Amino acid sequence: LILSMGIVSPLMKFSIFVNDIKSMEYSVRDADMLLTLPELSIKKEPVSFKNYAIQLENVSFSYGRVDDTEEKMALSNVDISIPEGSFSALVGSSGGGKSTVARLIARFWDVNEGCIKIGGINIKDIPLNQLGNTITYVAQDNFLFNCSLMENIRLGKPKASDEEVFAAAKAACCDEFISKLEDGYNTNAGAAGKCLSGGEKQRISIARAILKDAPIVILDEATAFTDPENEHKIQKSIAALTKGKTLLVIAHRLSTIKDADQIIVMEKGNIVSNGKQGELLKSCPLYINMWNAHINSKSWTVSTKRKKEA
Ligand code: ADP
Ligand code: MG
Repeated sequence: LILSMGIVSPLMKFSIFVNDIKSMEYSVRDADMLLTLPELSIKKEPVSFKNYAIQLENVSFSYGRVDDTEEKMALSNVDISIPEGSFSALVGSSGGGKSTVARLIARFWDVNEGCIKIGGINIKDIPLNQLGNTITYVAQDNFLFNCSLMENIRLGKPKASDEEVFAAAKAACCDEFISKLEDGYNTNAGAAGKCLSGGEKQRISIARAILKDAPIVILDEATAFTDPENEHKIQKSIAALTKGKTLLVIAHRLSTIKDADQIIVMEKGNIVSNGKQGELLKSCPLYINMWNAHINSKSWTVSTKRKKEA
């Protein structure tokens, strides 16, 4: 895709990557909003984080559509507590507000009510470039920039050596398919885009995120996978990305998150329930339905246990 799109430049600057198509549909407006945020022009001192826990306190948010009523808020009075180093997951039906939570934490928009804190600090008090360096956001529909695959990965850490780029690519299970391309890492991503699968593109953006090595990782999982081999590789690369981090995964396949420390179930901008899978399977009808649908839809399974930091 094109570097000159409105959304790309401010976000590249803050080194958070908005990769999902949905955001891009609204890109012009988003970019406008980002650029007109009054705080942007005020230079803030970097904060020092005591920890990387994330807290949403009574957060309400509307995208500002003219027909917005209380019911149509994207989020209504949402409380979420994500301890440092934990693995939290957001699940629920489409339109429930999951991606909105992710975008608000990364501060693509500001909350209308309530507040979001990282390590107890209101994110509005954190300079945007520092916030950008603190959070890696891998969005669900990834796009590649119109430069080589090497440079696409290096965007995560512009000063990275070639060796560091290769190591990140290996950890994200990209090395094998990139090496098979005629021009290898020098392949232009625009040209390669057509012959790469959705899963391979997501792995490239995971490699970029591994290189970035931020303490908070937010992953909006891709919706569809063609084959178990690819799912397995994605799982492996996610494990490499998230070791020792505060992790929030927006999951479309419940197998990814069944071992999460907490699973937050969302519907229509509200939190319906919150707990470990075992608890939700006893108490949350919505989750039980989702789990049954998940089991019935799967003819194959892979091990998805997240490796804990040794
Ligand atoms: P989920 O990720 O759970 O599917 P979202 O957070 O994307 O849900 O969406 C929550 C609500 O906000 C939905 O009603 C959706 O239509 C709306 N929405 C999402 N993104 C935008 C946007 N950029 N502009 C306007 N409305 C949006
Ligand atoms: Mg979403």
